[in-house]
Amino acid sequence: MALERITPRVFVETSNLGSNNSLIVGSEGNILVDSPHRPTDAIELAREAQEHGRLRFVVNTDHHPDHTIGNFWMPGEIVSHAGTRKRLIEEAPSDEYLQNLMARIDPEALPLMGDYKVRIPDVVFINEMTLHVGDLSLELSFQPGHTANSLLAYCPQEHVLFSGDIFCEAGLPSFQDSRVADWFSALEAVEAFDFEILVPGHGDVADRSAIERYRAQGREVVQKVAAAIAAGHDCDQAMDEIRFEDRIHVDTDQYIGYPDDLIEMFQRRSVSRIYEDLVANPNLVDR
Ligand SMILES: [Zn+2]
Repeated sequence: MALERITPRVFVETSNLGSNNSLIVGSEGNILVDSPHRPTDAIELAREAQEHGRLRFVVNTDHHPDHTIGNFWMPGEIVSHAGTRKRLIEEAPSDEYLQNLMARIDPEALPLMGDYKVRIPDVVFINEMTLHVGDLSLELSFQPGHTANSLLAYCPQEHVLFSGDIFCEAGLPSFQDSRVADWFSALEAVEAFDFEILVPGHGDVADRSAIERYRAQGREVVQKVAAAIAAGHDCDQAMDEIRFEDRIHVDTDQYIGYPDDLIEMFQRRSVSRIYEDLVANPNLVDR
C-alpha cells in the first residue's frame, strides 16, 4: 500500500478499502482527491502525502463515508459541492453506525474514534470552481450521477480526470442516491473530457475504453429491473431477485469488505431506486 505515480505529478492509492485517493503535486502545494475510508489508512496517507509537500486542499467527490471519513485526519481545507456539505451535516453517520463499521473494517481504529466528528467541507461550489496550486490546477465541475451532489475533477496539465464514483472500474457502486437518467448522462460528461488517464472512484486506473464496459454493466441492471416490472413483479420482488456485480464493498485479497447484511442493503436500495425511476419513465431502459 503506497501512493503510486501515474503521471509526473499525480499519484494514486487504489488498494485502500473504500475510495481511491489521489494526490496532485503542484509547485505551491498539493491537492488530495477523496480521503480514505479507514482511519488507519487516513493517518498513513496524511503522512505520506506531506512527504510530497504541503497538503492544501482535500476534495470530496461525494458525501459517502468511503470518501469522507478520512477528512478528520487531513490537514488543509475540505472542498466539495454545496450538496455534499449539506448532506454531511443533515445525514451524518451515527456513532453507532461508525462503531459497528470500524469494528468490522478497521478494529485498530476503534481507540482513535473517541474524539471523531464528521469534518464537513470548508469551501463549496455550485456549478464549477478551480483550485490552483502553483503550476497545476484542478477544475471541479458539478455532475449529478452517482449522487445528486457528485463532481468531476480534471487536471488539465496532466490530462487526468478523477471521476469519483460516476465511473468505477471495480463493478458497480450503489445506486441508492442515483437517478437513472443522471447516471447515464454523467458517463457522457466523462467522455467529453480530453483526458489520457481516468482515475475511478474505486478500482484500477483506466482509460477511455473502460467507460463503455461500465455503461454496459449499468444498462444490464436497469434492464433486469425493467424485465421485473414487465413481468408484473412489485418492487419487493425485484429487490429479492436482482443482484449485480459489486467488487467495491466485498472482500478481496487486499482487504476485508463490508458485512453481508450491508452489501445486501446496498443492492436492495439500488434496485428500489432504479425501479422507482423506471416506473416514472419507462424510456430510461433505452439509455
Ligand atoms: Zn465510493
